[in-house]
Amino acid sequence: MQCDFIIIGGGIAGISAAARLAAGARVTLLEMEPRIGSHTSGRSAAIFIQNYGGAAVADVNALALDFFRDPAEITDLPLLAPRGEMMVARAEDFAALDDYLRDAREIEELTTEQALILCPILRPEAALRASIERGAQTIDCDLLLHGFAKLLRRLGGQIETDAPAQAITYDNGLWHVTTPKGVYTAPVLVNAAGAWADPVAEMAGVAPLGLIPYRRNAAILPAPADMVVDSWPMVVNAAERWYIKPEAGKLMFSPCDAIATTPHDAWSDDMELAEGLDRFDQDVTYEVTRVERSWAGLRTFAPDHAPVVGFDRQAQGFFWLAGQGGIGIQTAPALAALTASLILGQPALLPEATIGALSPARFAV
Ligand SMILES: Cc1cc2nc3c(=O)[nH]c(=O)nc-3n(C[C@H](O)[C@H](O)[C@H](O)COP(=O)(O)OP(=O)(O)OC[C@H]3O[C@@H](n4cnc5c(N)ncnc54)[C@H](O)[C@@H]3O)c2cc1C
Repeated sequence: MQCDFIIIGGGIAGISAAARLAAGARVTLLEMEPRIGSHTSGRSAAIFIQNYGGAAVADVNALALDFFRDPAEITDLPLLAPRGEMMVARAEDFAALDDYLRDAREIEELTTEQALILCPILRPEAALRASIERGAQTIDCDLLLHGFAKLLRRLGGQIETDAPAQAITYDNGLWHVTTPKGVYTAPVLVNAAGAWADPVAEMAGVAPLGLIPYRRNAAILPAPADMVVDSWPMVVNAAERWYIKPEAGKLMFSPCDAIATTPHDAWSDDMELAEGLDRFDQDVTYEVTRVERSWAGLRTFAPDHAPVVGFDRQAQGFFWLAGQGGIGIQTAPALAALTASLILGQPALLPEATIGALSPARFAV
């Protein structure tokens, strides 16, 4: 089947980029699972934090926020809901908090008393210093993913599920991707395979970039007795020992772990969760008596922890959209727009320095 662009990966990265490429072009997206969003994109904390991800993505976050504030192209409903993100620091976490605050935008420091009003289960010694990004917001991930999928289909794009790329070859200026549903052919191949991005490149005979998937656990805890948590901000230990986020009247908890692994369908690890809950227990007055449900996802990072967006330096027509780590949901609208502008040769949407910092060419230096 001949098309203009093949996208491998039906997570938020691949779906949003495919939608951006689909106006006036034949786009086919291949997803190995029966459903889109089955892997990391369906397992996130779903929060937009302007100051997360480091300097390389500050402009990306700002561009994405413009889209989130006006998502009329994909939905009539709001994609964001107010939440706020509070960082709290023990004495030994002050350096980590200072690092975070150094280049932070629209953030303010709080006293211990103010922090305890916002989250009353904190022990004072766990919030000797604190900061808040009041503008941090919850993202409706389902709406985002399926909104872009609808836009893609409306523009004539095709989503093939149960369609793993099993072999990839290149000849006469065309990529040929073999799947159980047939062979798809296009001059441009977008690699948005998340944790599998390096193996997909290797399958295509393209040098891998050294992307590493790191497992992160998460769980739902009951709300502390007699407390309504809905108005609490997300609360994050500044040294990333744990975080909590209100979720439908309960608390989503993560031990902020990052266990280097290989691409797989991740599941939660009881021991890693228990160790994280122990760290959390030292910082709060709330005794966790049970975990209602737990899961894990793979956050995949490039060696320098910035996303990788751009054409491969050597392989003609091979485009990387990978390494989004812990910010792939919030950056998706901006990285999809960047992908389309680079592939279609449209005017740059981001400063040249940012485009260079995200380009796979940076690994050649
Ligand atoms: C616990 C946790 C909390 C997080 N919280 C946040 C947050 O609050 N905010 C935020 O912005 N980000 C967050 N993230 C990160 C975010 O979820 C990821 O950055 C993002 O989902 C990555 O999207 P993706 O499309 O690249 O990967 P994926 O969603 O994993 O999609 C890749 C797809 O490629 C498919 N695929 C792989 N190989 C093949 C093949 N050979 N053929 C066909 N298909 C293939 C896979 O099946 C998969 O569906 C969190 C992650 C975790 C684990």
